[in-house]
Amino acid sequence: MVAVSKTKPVDDIMALYQQGQRIFGENKVQELIDKYALLPKDIQWHLIGHLQTNKVKYIVPFIACIHSVDSLKLLFEINKEAKKINRAIKVLIQVHIAQEDSKFGVDETTLFEILEYYTHENTSLQNIEIVGLMGMATLTEDRAQIESEFLKLKKLFDYVAETYLFHKKNFKEISMGMSGDYQIAIRFGSTMVRIGSLLFGNRNYKS
Ligand SMILES: *Cc1c(COP(=O)(O)O)cnc(C)c1O
Repeated sequence: MVAVSKTKPVDDIMALYQQGQRIFGENKVQELIDKYALLPKDIQWHLIGHLQTNKVKYIVPFIACIHSVDSLKLLFEINKEAKKINRAIKVLIQVHIAQEDSKFGVDETTLFEILEYYTHENTSLQNIEIVGLMGMATLTEDRAQIESEFLKLKKLFDYVAETYLFHKKNFKEISMGMSGDYQIAIRFGSTMVRIGSLLFGNRNYKS
């Protein structure tokens, strides 16, 4: 479980930390850097929000996993920065599975292009480890809709695992499910749920 602590103060994070939680997720780079500086160093930080190439260098030294990779350009940048400090960065490719246009993520064509490059020319992406796929379902009360979107991501994951990454045993994560839909996500094969409001209470974006 990734505890999504965006907008929440460090005291709230520490309270959960003291109960044993070590994996926390943030969606903004600046907020992530600020919290990283203030909190215990054995926290595994996951970036779950959109990442701009010019901000990659700030998180590469400490990030445990980036869920939101959506272009080859971004992969190249992460690889470049990781190489400088001799790290291998775990990433997930974010796939667009929702009906809404507003959600980030790649379509299947772009996903396959990225994997094609990664598998055939992987000498140039040596400091990247693609460990899975991430997706966000449509925000809706319609269970069948959510189920079909999670099923789509699960099928895509299986296809990718068999077709492109059969030789990589670390390709094993499906990051799907949030406070409102994590139970459905788990039934459809999620290995990482990203839970915010259920743990920390509703977010107040004004504060
Ligand atoms: C905010 C956020 C979550 C957590 O949402 P909740 O509904 O509060 O659990 C999960 N994933 C991403 C990408 C988010 O931005």
